Amino acid sequence: MEMFPIFLKIEGRACLVVGAGRVAESKIESLVRCGAKVRVVAPAATQAVREAAQGGAIVWEQRAFQTSDLAGAFLVVAATSSPEVQEEIFLQAQRTGVLCNAVDEPERCDFYYPAVVRRGPLQIAISTSGRFPALAHRLREEMEERFGPEYGAWVEEIGRARSELLAADISPEQRARRLRELSSEEALEEFRRRERQAADVEGIHETGKVYFVGAGPGDPELLTRKAWRILSEAEVVLHDALVAPEILRLAPASAMIYDVGKRCGRKSITQEEIHALLIGQARAGRSVVRLQGGDPLIFGRAGEEIGALREAGIEFEIVPGVTAASAAAAAAQVTLTDRRLASRVIFLSAHRRAGEFDAAWKSLPASGATLAIYMPGGSYEKVAQELRKAGLAADTPCVLVSQASTAGEQIVRTDLASLPSVGEVPAPALLLVGEVTRDQTLEAVGAYRAGAWLASQALSPG
Ligand code: SAH
Repeated sequence: MEMFPIFLKIEGRACLVVGAGRVAESKIESLVRCGAKVRVVAPAATQAVREAAQGGAIVWEQRAFQTSDLAGAFLVVAATSSPEVQEEIFLQAQRTGVLCNAVDEPERCDFYYPAVVRRGPLQIAISTSGRFPALAHRLREEMEERFGPEYGAWVEEIGRARSELLAADISPEQRARRLRELSSEEALEEFRRRERQAADVEGIHETGKVYFVGAGPGDPELLTRKAWRILSEAEVVLHDALVAPEILRLAPASAMIYDVGKRCGRKSITQEEIHALLIGQARAGRSVVRLQGGDPLIFGRAGEEIGALREAGIEFEIVPGVTAASAAAAAAQVTLTDRRLASRVIFLSAHRRAGEFDAAWKSLPASGATLAIYMPGGSYEKVAQELRKAGLAADTPCVLVSQASTAGEQIVRTDLASLPSVGEVPAPALLLVGEVTRDQTLEAVGAYRAGAWLASQALSPG
């Protein structure tokens, strides 16, 4: 069947997405980017979808799909893992005349998502009519090389010139000739030459540069001014899963954005591919931002990436960010050091390889230090066990901070004895351990264990 290619204006239109997993995420993002009013129906959602809902970019209804959900929808994307639900959505959409895309099921699609090269107002959409999507992706990569980021600004510029021409009082022949000239290869070369000149005046070099930029813990106000500026001038952005959409939106619309994050340990792109992208894009003369949550030098892959850039002779700069430990401490109102309680802070990761923590866990100080534990994982029992093995007392206080600095922030105060029974808090979360986290209000009444204190209150006679 022949497909009818069109570009739709969906700003303000009601679009429904059923499902909120990893696949749905990118579909939601592309709809939001074009200004659609997106409603998501799904019993569970990824971190990014939850954050988009918390930030008001979309509406998420946490429940199963029902046929009435399609009422008033302009289009629907079915991205559930249940073939029955997919079928039900498609049939109901057909019945009510709503355009349907069931992800990866061509027979249940009225429309496909093409592979797209975006250069500001210029968009090149590629489709194989569902025959071979991987080919469309390869062609897109080729097109991205062929049509550099300069096309965005150039099309804006000649678009303005065209409007002026259309309003000018000249003959149709003259107008047609001028329009041809405006969009010619020579005109583009001339535009590039002017851009290079302007860049030289501003001292921007011919070869690009890579910026390792800390995006902070989530709140866009916790970005540094430098991070803000560099991001707003970026031509290429490679970002982690942890970077909030509000922050990504600071990049120019013409920028190429690559999500190179790992989700649930599943890599969408290998480390070597990230190196190749950084080097290739910088060699093409672009300003490349490697955007990482928190600080780029803490529990990221910056070390390996810096090594690869040095080897390739690519210039780079590092822009520090507010690390999660600082944001968690601020949220819980604890100091990381205190001359009475802790003279050192240790940043450690509870990420386990082959079920084992790093050897550093064996030689932790039993007291006098604050531990900032990144990636504490879902089961806190193992973490508590290891800390007890290292000699920390059972009543060592600790605080779990989930989604520090965001609307979803949660704080759970406990101690090592009770930590294993704390239910899992939403990721990302960080665990602070040590005397500095002891609850001041409880200290004031001289009882340290919240449970013990509350129990004593309940039992005290009178
Ligand atoms: N470079 C980052 C850390 C990357 S490792 C930084 O400097 O913060 C990812 C871990 O960081 C998560 O598993 C979690 O432990 C922590 N983290 C990141 N953002 C967080 C946030 N907003 N609240 C709590 N923990 C966070």
